[in-house]
Amino acid sequence: MSNVETKNQQYVHYLNQLFAPEDDALAGIRAEMAREGIRPINVSPIGGKTLHFFARLIGAKRILEIGTLGGYSATWLARALPAAGRLISLELEQHHAEVSRRNWAQAGVSDGVEVRVGPAAETLRQMQAAGEAPFDLVFIDADKDGYPQYLELSLPLLRVGGLMLADNTLREDILDANSTSGIAKYNAAVAAHPELMSIMIPMLHGHGFDGLLVSMKQSSG
Ligand code: SAH
Ligand code: MG
Repeated sequence: MSNVETKNQQYVHYLNQLFAPEDDALAGIRAEMAREGIRPINVSPIGGKTLHFFARLIGAKRILEIGTLGGYSATWLARALPAAGRLISLELEQHHAEVSRRNWAQAGVSDGVEVRVGPAAETLRQMQAAGEAPFDLVFIDADKDGYPQYLELSLPLLRVGGLMLADNTLREDILDANSTSGIAKYNAAVAAHPELMSIMIPMLHGHGFDGLLVSMKQSSG
């Protein structure tokens, strides 16, 4: 391991233990994911705390997550909700959904928390058609190719003043001006969108960095 990587890991460890210490429930979710053979591509503790912070900041009562995995980021978000709050998380894999439900029960956050299984784009269209009530916060963290579509389909479900957060949006491919990756498209679409006002928060990781794109819906078109 290079010196830079070692230093990076020290900073990540410092941030996690100081600002986002995990309790048994959160550590237990990661352990259960490992037992179930689910890849640990969840947000870091400080990444989870960042989501929690934004949800608390705006007093979010209704949260939509796209990409559940083992329910780790959802648990950080669910803990930001008031008693009657609601979190709906969309997930493609039945197995991930089952493990997440179990993890939420174990962590004591099951109340008002739900996972809907299927391709997220389809579920989002169903939600729109069914007249789903607006959300205060949307967190996009599923397949990266789908991001532009998730922007289009979830923005109408976000209230004015609400936040759209997108994980893994500061990656090397976006430096290529000709990049056609989902992330490059998403970042450009968000930046040009008249309804959105955005900032990128670079996030330190063990082996480098990535980013969380934070957009506020400032108007409705
Ligand atoms: N938010 C999670 C990590 C999500 S990883 C956390 O930080 O804890 C990405 C997840 O998106 C995986 O569980 C994957 O199965 C799911 N996914 C991939 N394609 C999808 C699709 N088309 N619709 C819904 N979920 C999808
Ligand atoms: Mg992610």
